[in-house]
Amino acid sequence: MLPGGQRKDGRAARRAGLWVGLLLCLPGMGRAEFQFRYDAEERIWTLSNGVLEAVFQHTPAQTFEFRSLSDLRTKDTWAPPDNIASSPIRLQVDGTLWDARTQWRLAAQTSRAIARGGYRQTIVLRDLLATGQVTLELELFENQPALRYRVRFRNLRPATARVTLADMLPWSFAELEKTYRVFRVNQWVRGGIWGNFEPLTTTLNPAGGTVSVNSGAHGQHCGWLALRDDADRGLFAGWEFDGRATAAVRHTRWQGHLQLAATIQQLSRPLGPNQDFQVPAAFLGLYHGDWDEAGYRTQRFAEAAIAKPIPDQNFPYVIWDSWRYQFDLDEETLRRNTEIAARIGVELFVVDLGWAERIGDWRADRGKFPSGMRALSDYVHSLGMKFGLHFALAEADPDSAVLRANPDWTSSETYHYFDALSLCLSHQPVRQWLVQETVRMIDEYNLDWILQDGENMVKRCTKTSHSHDPGDSNYSNAVDGLNAVILEVQRQRPRVLWENCEDGGNMMTFNMVRNYVTSIAADDSGPMTTRQAIYGVTYPFSTRYADRYMPDHELDYYKTRSYMFGGPWIFMNRLTEMRPEDVELAIAEVKLYKQLRRRIREGRVYHLSARPADNRVDSLQSYHEATDTAIIFVTRPQATGNYRMVRPRGLQRERNYSVRFQESGRTYTLTGEQLMTDGVRVDLPAMWTTEIVYIEPLQPGP
Ligand SMILES: [Zn+2]
Repeated sequence: MLPGGQRKDGRAARRAGLWVGLLLCLPGMGRAEFQFRYDAEERIWTLSNGVLEAVFQHTPAQTFEFRSLSDLRTKDTWAPPDNIASSPIRLQVDGTLWDARTQWRLAAQTSRAIARGGYRQTIVLRDLLATGQVTLELELFENQPALRYRVRFRNLRPATARVTLADMLPWSFAELEKTYRVFRVNQWVRGGIWGNFEPLTTTLNPAGGTVSVNSGAHGQHCGWLALRDDADRGLFAGWEFDGRATAAVRHTRWQGHLQLAATIQQLSRPLGPNQDFQVPAAFLGLYHGDWDEAGYRTQRFAEAAIAKPIPDQNFPYVIWDSWRYQFDLDEETLRRNTEIAARIGVELFVVDLGWAERIGDWRADRGKFPSGMRALSDYVHSLGMKFGLHFALAEADPDSAVLRANPDWTSSETYHYFDALSLCLSHQPVRQWLVQETVRMIDEYNLDWILQDGENMVKRCTKTSHSHDPGDSNYSNAVDGLNAVILEVQRQRPRVLWENCEDGGNMMTFNMVRNYVTSIAADDSGPMTTRQAIYGVTYPFSTRYADRYMPDHELDYYKTRSYMFGGPWIFMNRLTEMRPEDVELAIAEVKLYKQLRRRIREGRVYHLSARPADNRVDSLQSYHEATDTAIIFVTRPQATGNYRMVRPRGLQRERNYSVRFQESGRTYTLTGEQLMTDGVRVDLPAMWTTEIVYIEPLQPGP
């Protein structure tokens, strides 16, 4: 038995004064019981929010160690092996590791309530020679079975030090002689050719088998992983970093060891005396169940604790985007589209690439917009829609004014976004110019929305002429570059919402969800590619982070419903070329989407079928816990068979449900047991058809 695994409540209670206990009541939300206790004699911190308990110790040997993480409902406990020390601190400075073996003096420790229904423990440690100081923050949130944490290192020596390793996931667990599987999801990679959100499951070889996740801008995978044993005891983890990182899970049975890591690639960060280095935050959660459960717990945690708040109850919006005109757009064409867009029910009108003089010169092209962009923006607003612009903030045409005046502002590597050169956002003058330009653009055109685009948002730059260290490209371009620019613009203009895109969803991280209200998944593609993307991305990310571009102007239900499930629904078509019957269909489908969007936004995704493919029927369910209702999209591409039995999940077995369909007039009354065991028959009378199934309880719940 691990010392930290024992509950200390009784003993600690008798020694009142040696520990800090608290009970927090949140008005209107029921009771959230945070108990953050510090036993000063044993030097043990026991942090609990009533569903998760995390235990850490400043040991008699002066090391700082992780003791256990327990789900208080399922009683699942994850703890390090007896013979391997584990610590949330793991970084390397000037060749020295600061980790579970480092000896510390406790400098300070406090705990307090934080925003979004959270509670934070702060622990400040100094090594025995006082050459460095680590501030560890540990956070729990109401009802969320996940621990969020971050480490900040301060150089206390009088000379510059260099941080060369930072691990965002430095956890070791006892492996309990089980078989472990690891689950990860690709990003949208190289136009979908190398990755379109394929879910990847790997069974770890107990003889040292390793599974890696390469995350961040231009990486292969989403910045997330889940793991579970053969009894469905599981862990999920996400890290809040947009630069490139390599995560890994390794299983070594002979050591009884399951090791996690997520290190920042090519880290080389100079740190002057008394300067701080912030290891990006990350979270580690517990679940019991399958990959859908891992995803759902991750999504609820992210929505509660870290994601950009939902802007309003109409989110996700219906959006129109001009890209089907590519560069061939002008104010007259766009005005004709605005009127149809407003009629269809579009809520946000976005002018895509091609509106500006050139990439980097973010002023409206006078030839295309003789009345100016503000006139179009005002017109869009007068029709009751929000207005947004495409913005490739980290790119500039070689002929742009900014690069003609400052040819050295490019990053040393360029990424060929429409023949533009890439800018180094971690170079201080670039950042300053970009913030000013963005704020000017927002004010001048009265923007509500920015569609971020580009190719690889975190550039590689090794220039010695820039304000950043030439060896510190990855971390610096992510944190001091892209993130700093967006945070500063959002601080100055908080009302403007940002959509994440970089030629598709290629920076799918849990830092991205902090800064953007939504993200594209697959870039402008067909229905099948889009459904495949939505299928995969809705494991790690809540549905609002899965927006979709629909390029067609000739519509049918197969098309519209292939784009309906998820975040904002983006019509990327020529509205002026739609036939009257297509406009009517769009009006009806947008109305339907608006009826469903809130429940899908709050719902839990069940991936009922295998990943969509041409030769099989796919079905995706959204289950809404609060109302015990389900919505299932069932789609038949080129598959044979005129019906499918679909087995919904998450229902109450004893309860009676009504089942109705969007297309078929049939209705059923079935118990949860019948629905989940035998399934319900869904008619799909032809290829390229689709059905939406609605399941609602017949009587109020117990
Ligand atoms: Zn640079």
